[in-house]
Amino acid sequence: MKIGIVGCAGRMGRMLMNAVLESGCTLAGGTERPGSDAVGQDLGTLLGRPPLGLTVGSDARALFAACDAVIDFTAPAATVSHAALAAETATVLVVGTTGLSRDDEAALTAAAARTPVVYAPNFSVGVNLLMALTERAAAVLGDDYDIEIVEMHHRHKVDAPSGTALGLGRAAAKGRAVALDQVWCKSRDGHTGARPKGEIGFATLRGGDVVGDHTVMFAAEGERVELTHKASSRAVFAKGAVRAARWAGNRAEPGLYSMRDVLGL
Ligand code: NAD
Repeated sequence: MKIGIVGCAGRMGRMLMNAVLESGCTLAGGTERPGSDAVGQDLGTLLGRPPLGLTVGSDARALFAACDAVIDFTAPAATVSHAALAAETATVLVVGTTGLSRDDEAALTAAAARTPVVYAPNFSVGVNLLMALTERAAAVLGDDYDIEIVEMHHRHKVDAPSGTALGLGRAAAKGRAVALDQVWCKSRDGHTGARPKGEIGFATLRGGDVVGDHTVMFAAEGERVELTHKASSRAVFAKGAVRAARWAGNRAEPGLYSMRDVLGL
């Protein structure tokens, strides 16, 4: 299977290229935004490996046309334009970019009418298991248990709460059969008043090189349940994304899929 990486010089882009090379799939190419210093560099050299004879390009359309699947961990505006190219070329698209608006997500849904798209705020197997456990715990415990989601990431992260924290919030809301945006509290400051029953709260920490920590707390009078996941290497996200590309490549039907679909959770 031929896999291309858009945003290949980014922190995740490099991890993704390594994961493709280690998976037995073919690394078909990589692109960067026009004007990036990485354009023209050999992909192998970019990874500190021997040259691969493939250079970083800036023509995303050509990359989509040459690949069975493209993996995109870039930025929302870039992901929207890549979704249109995936639809145009009927190429599998795997999206890990976070911070997408509703309109951005609508672009993924539109592309998914033409080709398989896997979109997940977190591609680690452990986090996706945590999502399934969170949904189950929220359903069993009910709203006598206050749900708070605490996350910590490295100092470079630009969106908050993390896409994973929001995904965990959606899983908890689903377990309670409510819509997350009707019950969420994304930050607190000043005289907030008492906590409303049924609220799902978020707390965001940023600092250092933390890859990604998430805890979902269910706090009642007399006891507290905490479900925690800690990622210590970004390689887990890259491995999961390549697994998603292979899974989607074996499916004929277009559609919008999640990592939970890939893992059968
Ligand atoms: P980064 O800034 O290191 O990398 C992003 C790369 O995309 C940069 O190299 C940038 O130049 C490139 N880019 C931007 N526009 C482009 C375009 N039009 N064409 C080609 N390349 C373009 O960021 P990062 O830490 O690698 O994270 C990237 C995204 O992935 C973020 O949204 C982050 O939150 C998300 N992420 C998701 C997961 C997950 O499992 N879903 C895990 C880690 C990070």
